[in-house]
Amino acid sequence: MAFTVERSQLVAALHGMSNSSLSPGASGNASVRTADGGMLISASGQLAGNTRPGDLVYIDSDGDIPKNQRKPSSEWRMHWQVYLDHPEAGGIVHCHSRYATVLACQRRAIPAFHYMVAIAGGDSIPCAQYAAYGTQELSDYVSTALQQRRACLMANHGQIAYAADPLRALALAKDIEELAANYYLSLQGGEPVILNEAEMADVLSRYADYGQQNQA
Ligand code: 13P
Ligand code: ZN
Repeated sequence: MAFTVERSQLVAALHGMSNSSLSPGASGNASVRTADGGMLISASGQLAGNTRPGDLVYIDSDGDIPKNQRKPSSEWRMHWQVYLDHPEAGGIVHCHSRYATVLACQRRAIPAFHYMVAIAGGDSIPCAQYAAYGTQELSDYVSTALQQRRACLMANHGQIAYAADPLRALALAKDIEELAANYYLSLQGGEPVILNEAEMADVLSRYADYGQQNQA
């Protein structure tokens, strides 16, 4: 089976997404960039937790979908666009996790209410404009929201996160969900205090060498 390592990484991320309840029902999808410049993506309408390596759909480097495969995720264009825009992206997770979706339905971005919003690459986590699922218009809006970010909310829909590989993208999607939950809950007690530009600039420079750099 071609791209065996990528297939097992993507299946692991899809099972992880299901186990962590980030993707209710058949919602959500995930992908991995392949060594030839194409991608593998989850099949449309399939429960993430039931996915086996042979269920994944290969899309070649021209964006063509070879025949005799399952139907690809309806969001394959959005994943494709993220790989085009971000050469450093090796894996993508899109999901309808609860609190990210609640905020996205209010079309709220997540401001710097907590320093960890820096994990998405800037001083806020933006919310992409609304367009119907599966459309190029949605891909374009997500592409705009992901300028200088690794994750964003998607209006009236959910969230998307990318990283060097699918398991790291899943870890980022979990962090985004936790931040969304904390922000939503903070709003219940009044307006949370928002960190200012200088405070976030300081955090972002610290983040550049946070943790175990260059280690798996
Ligand atoms: P797919 O099952 O086609 O991937 O669609 C799920 C989804 O989340 C659409 O945005
Ligand atoms: Zn979706």
